Amino acid sequence: MKQLLVLLLLALLVPPTAYAQDTRAAERRIEFPDIPGYLTLKCDLHLHTVFSDGSVWPNIRVQEALRDGLDAIAITDHLEYQPHKDDIPHPDRNRSYEIAVESVGDRDLIILNGSEVTRDMPPGHSNAIFLKDANKLLIDDSVAVFREVKRQGGFTFWNHPNWTSQKPDGVAALTDLHRQLIREGLLQGIEVVNNVTYSDEALQIALDYDLTIIGTSDIHGLIDWQYNVPYGGHRPITLVFATERSAAGIQEALQAGRTTVWFNNTLIGKEEFLAPLIRASLTVKEAAYGGDTLVLSVLIENTSDVAYLLDNQSEYTFHASADVLTIAPHQTTRIDVKTVDRKTSLTLVFEVLNAVTAPGTHPEITLEIEVE
Ligand SMILES: [Zn+2]
Ligand SMILES: [Zn+2]
Repeated sequence: MKQLLVLLLLALLVPPTAYAQDTRAAERRIEFPDIPGYLTLKCDLHLHTVFSDGSVWPNIRVQEALRDGLDAIAITDHLEYQPHKDDIPHPDRNRSYEIAVESVGDRDLIILNGSEVTRDMPPGHSNAIFLKDANKLLIDDSVAVFREVKRQGGFTFWNHPNWTSQKPDGVAALTDLHRQLIREGLLQGIEVVNNVTYSDEALQIALDYDLTIIGTSDIHGLIDWQYNVPYGGHRPITLVFATERSAAGIQEALQAGRTTVWFNNTLIGKEEFLAPLIRASLTVKEAAYGGDTLVLSVLIENTSDVAYLLDNQSEYTFHASADVLTIAPHQTTRIDVKTVDRKTSLTLVFEVLNAVTAPGTHPEITLEIEVE
């Protein structure tokens, strides 16, 4: 009785919003399963702070990333564009990275040293990450900057090739300078997603030239305000399929092109990595006929953050939905399949409409179902 009273008192003392905030905090963590052979690491490789044209101190980028459950971030302030330099003198271009590292302390977040090389088109803007010394990138000649990044063992990707300030039609297109950089191994990736924009043309360039597919927030303000977090939105990130959870592991995976982008409830990537990610996300938990009926109830568990939008490609029709259905994130969804005959096993095939492996191309997933 005394215990009950204490519990009652506690219930009165803890405001009801505290619980809601706790679940919100947990829900905002971005979650994806690992795929066979690789860890799935959640990375945002393009962030700004007050050390270029961002609005926040580097420790805020760290706190946002920890709240989002990211594995790694790269702080990538503009090298050349320094609008706050009268208020915040900035003689050392590694400083925002160093402050971010100090603020992580013993918490579990990998910080990568990066810079945004900020040039007119061509080559436009590019991010260089895994830098040893960003100050050495302050060189006039654009190609020489890329060579210096390579000398430091860094990784470079082309930022927002669809940016309308540099490409008014929004259509990403390679220039001769970009082709030269790619040929010489000085440009290894391309942003297919930047902030709130997506580029089919950039995806096609990535596929044609075997560039690593990247998606980033390029955040200047606050993640929560830009992406409606925690009210259902999420920042764009690059899922990196690595053999170990470390900066070296991320670098090896980026150089090998093992990525998929997570943007606005859409997955974008090469089929060989995207398909295993979808398969790892979805598990058939149960399949049984309801009584004497020939309607098979199939329970599918989704362990990812994606609300999968599936388009039925099999011969069967469904009892509770049309041919397009949603498999909600972190839930088990029931699909009632009219099999007409009583089956012991069957195959369901779906086109995943919110996954993109090439412009206008969506992968198919096959679910093999054993009936209990
Ligand atoms: Zn930029
Ligand atoms: Zn930027």
